[in-house]
Amino acid sequence: MALTNNETRSNYLINQIAREIGAIVGHDQVTADKAKRVEQASDWSWMSKYLLSKNEELPIADLVVSPKSTEEVSKVVSLANDYRMPVIPRGGGSGTQSGTFALYGGIALDLKRLNKVIDIDENSMIVTVEAGLDGSELEKVLNAKGLTMPHYPGSHFFGATIGGCLAARGSGVVSTKYGKAEDLVLQIEAVMANGKVIDTLPVPSHASGPGIIQTLVGSEGTLGVITKAAMRLEHLPESRVFLSYGFKDVNTGIEAARLIMTKRWKPAVIRLYDEADTKKLSEFLNLGVQGVLMVIMCDGAKSLTDLEAKEIDLICTGVGGKPHGPQVGQNWWDGKYEPFKHGNIPAPPMIYGTTDTCARFNDLPAIYKAKKEVVEKQFAHHKARYTAHFSHWFPWGGMIYDRFYVDNPPTDIDEAMKLHDDLWNAAIDASLKNGGTLNEHHGVGLKLGRFMKAQHGSSWEFMLGLKKAWDPNGIMNPGKLGFGPPGSA
Ligand SMILES: Cc1cc2nc3c(=O)[nH]c(=O)nc-3n(C[C@H](O)[C@H](O)[C@H](O)COP(=O)(O)OP(=O)(O)OC[C@H]3O[C@@H](n4cnc5c(N)ncnc54)[C@H](O)[C@@H]3O)c2cc1C
Repeated sequence: MALTNNETRSNYLINQIAREIGAIVGHDQVTADKAKRVEQASDWSWMSKYLLSKNEELPIADLVVSPKSTEEVSKVVSLANDYRMPVIPRGGGSGTQSGTFALYGGIALDLKRLNKVIDIDENSMIVTVEAGLDGSELEKVLNAKGLTMPHYPGSHFFGATIGGCLAARGSGVVSTKYGKAEDLVLQIEAVMANGKVIDTLPVPSHASGPGIIQTLVGSEGTLGVITKAAMRLEHLPESRVFLSYGFKDVNTGIEAARLIMTKRWKPAVIRLYDEADTKKLSEFLNLGVQGVLMVIMCDGAKSLTDLEAKEIDLICTGVGGKPHGPQVGQNWWDGKYEPFKHGNIPAPPMIYGTTDTCARFNDLPAIYKAKKEVVEKQFAHHKARYTAHFSHWFPWGGMIYDRFYVDNPPTDIDEAMKLHDDLWNAAIDASLKNGGTLNEHHGVGLKLGRFMKAQHGSSWEFMLGLKKAWDPNGIMNPGKLGFGPPGSA
């Protein structure tokens, strides 16, 4: 691909920087090709899909650069810092928060060539990988050895990388037992904004001062580029036992999940669907169930899963759950990626947004009620719909994976974009006022950056201080996570 074209030839500086970067990564690994720049800026956010569907421009970088090693990332970032040029890291581009939009131009840093499995330590059960490795590719390597790195997001087959999962603080399908990406990570190597390479300690649990690792996790490319990660491994389970129940309402289902979690049972999956979401799921998977549905999966040694399933059954039936039998749960597991298949996944022109949040058990019922009401009542004139399921549980609470949909939005682009923002404003307000968070696993990106101050209150000032100290020129993914343009931190 020719590096220069009519558009960039007029920009002498960009061309010079491209030549300098070419000397680092190879001239064939730098491009100003427009289609590549658009591809690198795009993600799975509604805004990205909507604007492209309307043949509108996305905010794109000046150059796309594809390094193949930490050393090359370090040299590219160092050079970008010298030129005060933004750097926008990108893994698989499966993010949903417009985190890859290049709002201020700069370098789209395509990390997919950092895709090696570096080491599998079967003794300590740790895998070390380069950050651009696709999670589903890693699984193939591990499964052949009877192992798994138990982080399977809905985007498992959408190219989500290990670095992207850490950068966006993601959750996988079995996070209730095995933890989120933040719990599975043991060590990180990162390139910081000045180009320096840092390694966190070899183990995450220590008393050697505060942990840098959890500051980089969730930083979405605004504090540095994650280049390597060591992740916890598990053996593939000997047994999986499935259960499923109908409940009279969502709150009774929440109570069942609360009892399971606070009695410290550890099923890998507890998913509680409200009526509207059960309907959708049942259609996708031909489940033949309706009403409020819970599917549960226990995994591990057979003796453990037998006992756990027996105790969980007592809890669920004890609060009035009506068993639907194991097959519904099994079908759910087999079809867990079905809702994300082409034709099932929402797409423009409809307006939609996944407004997932997490909260203490005490706050979950009020958040669900408030968000359902605000979407269905405040936007009744747009016939807005609301669906929810609760899919990740913690010892202290759970997450709500909820969505709004407007099937027939205004055709005018500005009006549609405004309606999208209004829906988000209302949903986030309802989450925050009732003890929830901005998000649970999709991250913040550009989409939710404007709420960071409200979310973090007086801590926000200290986050800004951290950004200023670690990235004084503000080159790292500017305009995301609520941080401002380059140079403004
Ligand atoms: C259908 C679908 C289902 C999904 N289901 C889930 C789910 O179940 N759980 C879940 O957690 N998420 C889910 N997501 C969201 C998304 O897949 C995750 O956020 C994923 O972690 C992003 O990984 P990625 O490599 O594609 O990152 P990208 O989209 O490339 O990037 C996301 C953000 O992280 C930054 N970034 C990427 N790599 C790095 C790096 N190495 N260093 C520093 N910053 C970096 C980018 O700058 C950007 O801000 C889903 C998305 C889709 C489309």
